[in-house]
Amino acid sequence: MNPVLELRDASKVYPGSPPVQSIRGVTLTVHSGELVAVVGPSGSGKTTLLNLATGLDRPTSGSVRIADQPIENLSDRRLSGLRAYRLGVVFQQFHLLDHLSALDNVATGLLYRGVPAARRRDAAAGALERVGLSHRPHHKARQLSGGEQQRVAIARALVGRPPIVFADEPTGNLDSATGADILALLRQLNADGTTIVVITHSAEVAAAARRRIEMRDGRIEHDTGSRA
Ligand code: ADP
Ligand code: MG
Repeated sequence: MNPVLELRDASKVYPGSPPVQSIRGVTLTVHSGELVAVVGPSGSGKTTLLNLATGLDRPTSGSVRIADQPIENLSDRRLSGLRAYRLGVVFQQFHLLDHLSALDNVATGLLYRGVPAARRRDAAAGALERVGLSHRPHHKARQLSGGEQQRVAIARALVGRPPIVFADEPTGNLDSATGADILALLRQLNADGTTIVVITHSAEVAAAARRRIEMRDGRIEHDTGSRA
């Protein structure tokens, strides 16, 4: 199986006096097809790990490979390109453009790939269908419920069919019933072949993932591992 994400002995130190060692010697491989939950108390390094895994930040030492591409020698520009083509990210706060329709929000997921507008919209319609929102493509984001907005955000992350999708507390802003729907959607997308890494405080989300990684004090304290 292909590794879609590999961290080897990755550490991150934030400068300051004293400097903060945010993650320490993290080694982790995620294979194609996995659904992985990352859990751990506040301050344990989850967001730092996400920032390294999505190429938003670089490790102080150690290595990171995204979709089989080592990032350490990539220029910022090539790294942005890798991010645009190789991964999707879903945030707790959705981060949609309120004045755009659901369809246009999803289409922005292809903006940095130079895909022509008509093809962006076709792909966006397909992605909205995958998340169960094909009946409201023209609603503005601000007219949608929280759960619908998160579906739009998930469709935007998926629209380019990236090899891996990251979600940072995707149910954190939703009531529990809506959160359960979003969780069911993530499981279904994973069953359809999307590799997903989800950072979560939610016991339900963590329990739904086949693999669970527990962070503490910047280290992986426990990893249930990839079980086929
Ligand atoms: P989590 O997401 O699990 O709450 P973080 O990765 O945000 O953990 O933080 C891990 C540690 O790194 C914490 O001690 C935090 O204060 C520190 N940290 C995170 N980002 C920065 C930063 N930009 N500058 C300094 N320290 C930081
Ligand atoms: Mg965090």
